[in-house]
Amino acid sequence: MRTLLRRTGTHTCWLCGGWIDVELPDTHPMSWTMDHVLPLSEYPHLALDPTNHREAHRTCNSAKGNRPVVKGKTSRNW
Ligand SMILES: [Zn+2]
Repeated sequence: MRTLLRRTGTHTCWLCGGWIDVELPDTHPMSWTMDHVLPLSEYPHLALDPTNHREAHRTCNSAKGNRPVVKGKTSRNW
């Protein structure tokens, strides 16, 4: 599924509208990722639904995924 979309998709980031270079390694911040329009935490049955899939840069995808953290509950101890 992932590789099919990567090959047949428009290679346009649905979050910033920019072009995605699919040749970039997965570790690259501007590399290709598959994003889910509806979060899988609420719509797990849509995980494999292509209509819920969008292409996005890794950095755009993770920026969107950065939900506000509940105050007083951080993952790091400074
Ligand atoms: Zn983007």
